[in-house]
Amino acid sequence: MALVSIKHQLVRGMQNGYAVPLFNIVDSLIADGIVAAAQAQNAPVILGLYGGHFELPNGRQQVAYARALAESVPQPVSLMLDHGASFEQCMRTIQLGFTDVMLDASKLPLDENIAQTKAVVRAAHAMGVAVEAELGHVGMGSDYQDAESLRKGFTRPDDVERFVSETGVDFLAVAIGTAHGAYAGEPHLALDLLDEIRRRVDIPLVLHGGSGLSTEQFQSAIAHGIAKVNVATDLFMTTARRLSEAATPEASYFALQRVAVESFQERCEHYLSIFGASGQAGG
Ligand SMILES: [Zn+2]
Repeated sequence: MALVSIKHQLVRGMQNGYAVPLFNIVDSLIADGIVAAAQAQNAPVILGLYGGHFELPNGRQQVAYARALAESVPQPVSLMLDHGASFEQCMRTIQLGFTDVMLDASKLPLDENIAQTKAVVRAAHAMGVAVEAELGHVGMGSDYQDAESLRKGFTRPDDVERFVSETGVDFLAVAIGTAHGAYAGEPHLALDLLDEIRRRVDIPLVLHGGSGLSTEQFQSAIAHGIAKVNVATDLFMTTARRLSEAATPEASYFALQRVAVESFQERCEHYLSIFGASGQAGG
């Protein structure tokens, strides 16, 4: 019965130098792989359902499956709305049992991002749900070579204190050089900017766009104050490759299912381990 808000774990990670990953679920195979990894590593973990996927016809069934799975293991498992699109969507997911929500109003002007985030925080906190927001804007890896446009989206340290104090948000996603999807070119992290943000606020900071960073980059981001890392693309690319290698004409469907679950589990265990989350479930 360990479907819980991840807030306690993220604060603990921030204080003790580890990060908890959010892995995106899109079906039951990946959910099985993620939770098996959390069990094998005795680690906390976050099942993230992307706002757009929640709206798909099978969105609610996925929520029911993820909840039942999370409740079946002793490790802390959060069910979190990833990139929530609106106040209404956040409320609908909370009603279905999500333990944490992200509202992504990062494309809006600062004042509007503050107003929308504040409204979600007030309602979510009344129901014991923690909230993540994004300040600055994490773009797409496919646009990565356009370094100038990426830099324009970087989080401005001067906005951070005001944003956190006015909204009461629990976790803050920052734009410091990562991007969603696969990178065109080598990713670079602005660790000096991360330090500056860390000095100004004391809530857990979040890194989106984890796929494609090196182990050293992850570990230095965590050492500089990141307590939650979102990873999706690598899990899907690796598993698609392994499935295509295993998909001989004689392969059975059940064998391919096993390949998928084991691939997700192996990649998730890798991330839990390099983020320092292994063995942290009991804290
Ligand atoms: Zn993201």
